[in-house]
Parts: sequence; structure tokens; C-alpha cells
Amino acid sequence: MHKIIRLAAIAAIAAVAASCSHKVAITAHRGYWNCEEAGFAENSIKSLELAQKYGLWGSEFDVHITSDLVLVVHHDAAIQGKKIWTHNYSDFKDYRLKNGEKMPTLDEYLTQGEKGGTVLVFELKSQIDKAHEDYMVDKSIEALKAHNLFDPKKVIFISFSRNICERVAALCPGFTNQYLEKDLTPDEVIAKGINGIDYHYSAFNEHPEWIEQAHKNKMSVNVWTVNKREDIKKMADLGVDCITTNEPLLVREILGGKEKK
Ligand code: MG
Repeated sequence: MHKIIRLAAIAAIAAVAASCSHKVAITAHRGYWNCEEAGFAENSIKSLELAQKYGLWGSEFDVHITSDLVLVVHHDAAIQGKKIWTHNYSDFKDYRLKNGEKMPTLDEYLTQGEKGGTVLVFELKSQIDKAHEDYMVDKSIEALKAHNLFDPKKVIFISFSRNICERVAALCPGFTNQYLEKDLTPDEVIAKGINGIDYHYSAFNEHPEWIEQAHKNKMSVNVWTVNKREDIKKMADLGVDCITTNEPLLVREILGGKEKK
């Protein structure tokens, strides 16, 4: 009996692999790769360069603000125990990423982004209060404009903060704006004026119907951070528009001709 169930499960996985018929975009997570060119630190200018070189659809990066209001590109809210928002930018000048690069400012990162070849998946990190979040959104828009990147074909926004997503919705009409926290259904997200979702794949394992529900609302659907072969196949088959991954070359191999450029 047990054996029969297992075989049925394998057959279901095989059917999934064969049935993905739509185009799926690939986004490098934090610009990070787990491929052989080691030394590419996440959120580094080098990793963005690599995404551009390989012609990935998108490359994600994360933005924080320092206490002297400099926008910087980094994943974690603290660096070596120092919370970014409580320290001046100059306090981080000696800090080095894994690849030896210093932590980029948003301006430095966008200087590379402007060279093109990949959509910038711009994650605005939650901040200490609404005022800081609002400031961060406004300064980000200013920076994108200064780099000729304030264009829905060049940038999409993602955030765990509802406040940030709502401000982006108000100030950036026409841009893809995805909510990351899987506490709302697509209907609830769209009711707040936010036009997309970017959920961890456990959300779609639990609620595969959310993908169709989102598409009925003309919302875009991204999934993070999918690195294993069987999960990549399953998410592609469920109909997501974009897969965020540390393994872009594996996703490319699995999608075959179904990669959206
Ligand atoms: Mg991120």
C-alpha cells in the first residue's frame, strides 16, 4: 500500500514537470548566486553585474537607511551588531562584504543598475517608524529618477511593510508593487491598492488557488526563494510569473524554453 502511494506521488511530480506551459521570469535573490563563480556576495555590485551578464530577467536587492539618512544596499538590519538605522553611514566604512566590496550606497548600486540588462527588484525594508519608511520611499524615487531608472520596465518594488507598499502605490502608479508578507490573500492585497504579491513558496503550497485569484485581479505573482529542483518545478507549474532564486542557472535549465526574458 505504502509503495503504491509513493509511486502515485512520483507520477504527480513527473506530470508537473511536463505541464508548465507559460513563460516564467527568473530573479536572482539579493543578487546572490550559488554557482561556481564563488565570492559573489549578496547585495554586492559584483552580483548585480553577474545577473546582468547572464541576462536574467531580474535581480533583487535590499535597501535600508542610516541615522544620517543615507540609503544603503544591505540585507540585514544590523551589521556586526550595529543597527543600520542607529548608526551613521561613516560607521560602516570599514565593513566589507564576502567578496571584499564595501557596502554599496543606493546611488552606487543604481550606477551599476543603470547599465541595464536586468530589472531591479527593489526591496524597501521595514523601518523603525512610518516617517522613516515614507522618507525612504521618497528618496528612493528621487534616486531612481536621477539614474533614469524611474520606469516600470526597469524597476519593480517589493516590501514586507504594508505602509511602504501603500506609499509606493500612491507615488508610483503603473509600477509593479508586490507585498511580501503572506498574511493577506490576493483580494485583501488588491483592496489596499497594491498590485502584486511576492510570497514564500510555503504560501502557495498551502494556497495554490491564490495564484489564480491574483491573476483574476490582474496582479503579478512572484515566489521566493526557491532553490530546490522539485520546488522550482512545482512553482512554475502552479503558474507564478517570476521565481526568485539563489540558483538561476538551475531554474533556467528546468524552464528550458519557458524562461521569460
Ligand atoms: Mg530581499
